[in-house]
Amino acid sequence: MRRRAEVAVVGAGAAGLVAARELLREGHAVAVFEKSARAGGTWAYDPRADADPLGRDPRAPGAVHGSLYASLRTNLPRQLMGFSGFPLAGRVFAGDPRTFPGHREVLAFLDAFAAEAGVAARVRLRAEVLRARPLGRGQGERWVVAWRGEDGEVAEEVFDAVVVCSGHCSVPLVPKIRAMLVLCVTGIDRWPGKQMHSHNYRVPEPFRGQTVVVVGLGASGIDIAREISHVAKEVHIAARYSGDRLGKIELYRNAWMHGEIECVQDDGQVRFAEGSSVAADTIIYCTGYRYHFPFLDLDELTVDDNRVGPLYKHVFPPKYAPNLSFIGLPYKSIVFQSLELESKWVAAALSGRVTLPSEEDMMTAVREHYRRMEEAGRPKRHTHTLWPEWVEYLDWLADQVGEPHLEAWRSEMYEETLRCIWSLDESYRDRWEGENIATGSPP
Ligand code: FAD
Repeated sequence: MRRRAEVAVVGAGAAGLVAARELLREGHAVAVFEKSARAGGTWAYDPRADADPLGRDPRAPGAVHGSLYASLRTNLPRQLMGFSGFPLAGRVFAGDPRTFPGHREVLAFLDAFAAEAGVAARVRLRAEVLRARPLGRGQGERWVVAWRGEDGEVAEEVFDAVVVCSGHCSVPLVPKIRAMLVLCVTGIDRWPGKQMHSHNYRVPEPFRGQTVVVVGLGASGIDIAREISHVAKEVHIAARYSGDRLGKIELYRNAWMHGEIECVQDDGQVRFAEGSSVAADTIIYCTGYRYHFPFLDLDELTVDDNRVGPLYKHVFPPKYAPNLSFIGLPYKSIVFQSLELESKWVAAALSGRVTLPSEEDMMTAVREHYRRMEEAGRPKRHTHTLWPEWVEYLDWLADQVGEPHLEAWRSEMYEETLRCIWSLDESYRDRWEGENIATGSPP
């Protein structure tokens, strides 16, 4: 017989919404806690920025969750951003039919999805989870969730399970950079220019006429460098994996590619690994985000050098499985698809339709994952990147819950998108429409 669990879902972004749908479908009772005033998470554009442009303290009063810039269009085509039975492709939700729509379209899609899936009614808005802990001295058979409501009152409720969907694109990860005075080494804080993280980037105007160094060559770094180049005097991209593209970027009037930042100097110069340097006004770190779960304080679960562990397949901490789980930690994959498959797995593990390995076997699998990473020379902080085994991960999840493997057109479309992003050609989103770049795609 299937078990019906009472489940607390933390967060009503894309992960929390699809997790709630899958939990409801499996017959569980669901309460979704959302600290902000609306569902949608990342996709609810927030024009505010943190008081500290580097966003170093996620507990600072008024810390901002959202990391979208005003002009943001999706970096994946809409065919790769829907949920089963509720595609984003083929329909228009906020008047933006483009293949790579602006953020409002995705938000409207999520609103419509939540309404149709019967999830919207389960979302408690302005309800921040402050603490989730196992009841008594248990192994997590039941969980006490302390949450603060709109009126500021803190309440406690007991659930069978907690599904963490609190997002991981909010707390900036800023690399350590050497700073050089003429005679001694000092902290980066002594660099005289402005430093910020892409989390706090909204519009290009403040960078008009400036020389800007953009650190990082991910989707956001490329987008922001491109956008700023239209108003800035010069843009310099500093990237660890710049490959053979060092020097002037042909597609741009005023942009150059460099190796990593070697160090910064107190006279404002930024020196790059290949030996060149520029006098910069601003450094924008587009260097990703840190996992951060302020409402969890568990001895057996840590975040160490951006590794959340131990976690079996990025989802279940062996000691507390299946009653504590995380949705949406892995990145470099088709995000929405991975959110949905993880959610189905969690829902089925909670009902007993799927049996997880023993705690010991899960721990063995986690250790094996770490060992393989070490052998391959992959740093700990890359634990949750799925690249290059992202298809294997999605197919493995699909096997757990009896879903079909990833269709070939999806993986081809995803890899084609990455090639387009890395081409640095800003017209790829619109060219896609005209040229139907991804052949083999469905209607
Ligand atoms: P979020 O969307 O961050 O949602 C988490 C929710 O949890 C938030 O609403 C937050 O308020 C809430 N919350 C947090 N803590 C608590 C608490 N203690 N109590 C209650 N509620 C809490 N993905 C794509 O597929 N395509 C793209 O083109 C794409 N572009 C992106 C561009 C940028 C700049 C960024 C930052 C991300 C992009 N992503 C993209 C990835 C994006 O993060 C995912 O699409 C998706 O939105 C992740 O959803 P989530 O629910 O895991 O997290």
